[in-house]
Amino acid sequence: MTPEASSAHAAGEAPADVIVVGAGIAGAVAARRLHDAGARVLVLDKARGVGGRMATRRLGEATLDHGAQFFTAPGELLTAMVDDWQRAGVVVPWFEGRLLPTGGRAADGHPRWRGRDGMTSVAKHLLDPVAVRTSARVTALRVIEANGIQAWSVETEDGLAARARQVVLTPPVPQTLAVLQAGGVVLHAADADVLGEAAYHPCLALLAVLDGPSGLPAPGILRPAGEPIEVVTDNQLKGISRVPALTVHAGPHASAELWDAPDDVVVSTLLGALPRLIAEPRPEAVQVQRWRYARPVAVVPEPFRVLRDLPPAVLAGDIFDGPLVGGAARSGWVAAGVLLGD
Ligand SMILES: Cc1cc2nc3c(=O)[nH]c(=O)nc-3n(C[C@H](O)[C@H](O)[C@H](O)COP(=O)(O)OP(=O)(O)OC[C@H]3O[C@@H](n4cnc5c(N)ncnc54)[C@H](O)[C@@H]3O)c2cc1C
Repeated sequence: MTPEASSAHAAGEAPADVIVVGAGIAGAVAARRLHDAGARVLVLDKARGVGGRMATRRLGEATLDHGAQFFTAPGELLTAMVDDWQRAGVVVPWFEGRLLPTGGRAADGHPRWRGRDGMTSVAKHLLDPVAVRTSARVTALRVIEANGIQAWSVETEDGLAARARQVVLTPPVPQTLAVLQAGGVVLHAADADVLGEAAYHPCLALLAVLDGPSGLPAPGILRPAGEPIEVVTDNQLKGISRVPALTVHAGPHASAELWDAPDDVVVSTLLGALPRLIAEPRPEAVQVQRWRYARPVAVVPEPFRVLRDLPPAVLAGDIFDGPLVGGAARSGWVAAGVLLGD
């Protein structure tokens, strides 16, 4: 069952033991681990598809990754996960080594992985057997009591009020705090202190379908020195797009500066700052994506957080022991382990 198809199933509201908010990599890893252990899991995500910041979008004939471009898998746990994903055919190695501003790479022995059909491939694979409801923005989390047992009521914009004894909360922390507050949940001071500090850099992403090859050298990704551009990728050379299409990410300072600028200003600033490519293709179609919570400013030095004095609620995601895809996946895995008594 695809995650999209399974949303219809979830709408029938089979009772869940655990509700996972967020179908990014942390939520997908957590949900799959809980599902495989026999728990009845319901995943809710406000987006139309799964993957969160591992996002892939179609634009005309082009397919573009517009959030994370690749990931590494340091350590035993991540290596084992990626081995599984590679066996399932959902990830492939893209290149090796750290990107240098000159266009070269510094060998470091770590393959950079990409999703086979784009970065969303991983979450789609993980959530395949799990009940998922997309386009389901959680608006409030409330503590309820039935027969003397406390549990969670999770309310969505489209009128769902699902109940579960346990929740895993994986949105960026300010979004999680907002839904807890909307449900009148009062956090223990120790949790409020740590979580109240959570902050993320924004990132502006420009997607541009080109009328010819970009001219970027293989493997199709460049990290220029300095801002405004942090990284530029040719999705065709990357192997996910039938036609040449660039993803251009602005750095954190440029993203903050240009955040409120109209799209045409963002487009002209970023296209004007493209590193000198071999060819000079013209964009046929462009789109701007604003990631308000792109990367944690600082990482919380713990792999998850269990909320005190409340029914079981574990926060996970890239701000916990992160900050990248690998950190988020690890956080989701250990957060699920907490609920399984691991
Ligand atoms: C532009 C960009 C480039 C990046 N490049 C890289 C890279 O090259 N390599 C790398 O390793 N990492 C990269 N990262 C970081 C990486 O994408 C993240 O660390 C990782 O994907 C975070 O996963 P997560 O599950 O913690 O959070 P997310 O992927 O953000 O998942 C959280 C989910 O919660 C959902 N959600 C939020 N609020 C609600 C709500 N109220 N109700 C329901 N659902 C909700 C969201 O829709 C989302 O799907 C990049 C990030 C960005 C934005």
